Amino acid sequence: MLQVKYHLITLGCQMNKSDSERLASLLDSLGLQEVDRPEEANLVILNSCSVRQAAEDRVFGRVRELAELKRTNPRLIVGVTGCMAGRDTDGRIRAKLPDVDLFFPTADMVHLPQWLVERRLIDVDDTKRPQEYLKIAPRYSSPYQAFVSIQTGCNNFCTYCVVPYARGLEKNRPAADILAEVRALAASGVSEVTLLGQTVNSYRAPDPEGFSKDNPYTDHFAALLWEVNQFEGLGRVHFTAPHPNSMTDQVIDALALPKQANYLHLPVQSGSDEMLRKMNRKYSRADFLNVIRRIHERKPEICLGTDIIVGFCGETEEMFEETVSLYREVDFDIAYLAIYSPRTGTPAWRAFKDDVTRDDKKRRWRRLHDLMEETVRRRNQKYAGQTVSVLVENCNSQGICSGNSWDMKIVRFPGSVNFIGRTIMVRIDTAREWVLDGQMI
Ligand code: SF4
Repeated sequence: MLQVKYHLITLGCQMNKSDSERLASLLDSLGLQEVDRPEEANLVILNSCSVRQAAEDRVFGRVRELAELKRTNPRLIVGVTGCMAGRDTDGRIRAKLPDVDLFFPTADMVHLPQWLVERRLIDVDDTKRPQEYLKIAPRYSSPYQAFVSIQTGCNNFCTYCVVPYARGLEKNRPAADILAEVRALAASGVSEVTLLGQTVNSYRAPDPEGFSKDNPYTDHFAALLWEVNQFEGLGRVHFTAPHPNSMTDQVIDALALPKQANYLHLPVQSGSDEMLRKMNRKYSRADFLNVIRRIHERKPEICLGTDIIVGFCGETEEMFEETVSLYREVDFDIAYLAIYSPRTGTPAWRAFKDDVTRDDKKRRWRRLHDLMEETVRRRNQKYAGQTVSVLVENCNSQGICSGNSWDMKIVRFPGSVNFIGRTIMVRIDTAREWVLDGQMI
C-alpha cells in the first residue's frame, strides 16, 4: 500500500495546538506521514476555532481552498474538528460544509482510526488505543517547551462563549496522568511546561490521593502546581487561563513557587459591573480588583495580562470608560482585546441585542489598544539596563535569537542557532512595546 500522508491545519488557542499534538500522534501511530503542504496529502484535518465570527469565517475560507484541491485530487479526505464541530449541535454548520468528509468534536478523534478504515485510507486497525482523547500521548512540537492539558470543557457559561457547548462541561484529567506526563517531559529535557485548561485553576483532581504527603496545599490546582514545581530539570512553569473566582489564597500563594513564571494572564472581560453581570462572569469590578490586590500582596512585581471584550450588548460609553479606568488601575502589561461578535447558540445571542455599532466597537478597541501600548511602553522601561533570563525559541538567518523572559516578555539578541532551547542571560539595551532588545552576557 502507498504511504498515506496527512496535513494538519490548526487555528485558535493553545488548547487547539495541544489537541493537534494529540491528533498528530494518533495519525503517526496509524502509520501516516505528516507533510507540510495540503497538496501532498491524502488527508487534511482542520482543527477549528469558534471564538469569534472572524475565526469561523477563516475556517470556511480554508475549506473552500481544500474543496478546490479535491477537484484535482478527488480521493482527498477533508476533516474538520475543534470548537466549530463541537458546538454544531443542530447540524447547521455541517450543512454549510458539503465538501467536508469528517466533521467531529475534538473528543471524538478516538474514532478516527475506524473512520479511516471505512474510507479505505488505511487497512484494518486493531491496535488497542485509549478511548479518551486526553489519554492519547501528544507528539510535542518542541523539544524544550510543552503544553500539558489538565482539563477540557467549562462549567461557567459566560453568556458570550461557545466553549461549554463546543467542549462540554469541565472534565479534569487525573493528577497521576498529568504528573507522569510532566515527569517524562522533564526527563526528556523540556525546560518549560504550560498547564492548559479553560478555567485551569478550577482544576479538581479525580485522584487527589496522588498528591505527595508533604504537599502543603489542599486546593487541587495549587497542589498540582507544587508537584510540577518539584521536577528536577524543569526550569519554568506557566499556566493559562485562570478564572478570577478560582484565585484562592492557596493558588495565589503558589504563584510564588520557585519555578512559576513571573506572569499571570487573568481575563477580566470588562470593568463595568453591568457588563460583567450580563456576561455572567460571576464577579464584580470590586471583586476583580480585590483579587489583583491579593496577588500583588503575595507577588508585588508580577506582570499581569488580561482578556477584554469591547462592544458587548448594551455597552454604553460610560460602561466602556469603566473598562478603561480598570485597565489604568491594574496597569496590565498586555491585553487580548476582542470586538464582540455574537456566537449562535449562546445565551447572549438568544437574549441580548448586539446593539453597539461597528464604528463604536472599532473606536473603543482602538482606544484600549492605544492605552495598552502606552502602558506597556512605560512599564517596559524598567528593563533597560537589567539582565533577564531568556528561553531561546528561535534564531533567524541574520543571527537574531528570540524567546520569552521570566516575565513573558519577548527578548531579542544576536546569537546562533545552537542557543535554541537554552536559557541565556541577556542585558537589555532598548525596551519597546512588544520587544526588549539586548546583548548576551
Ligand atoms: S470561563 Fe467563560 S469565557 Fe472562559 S471558557 Fe468558560 S464559559 Fe468560556
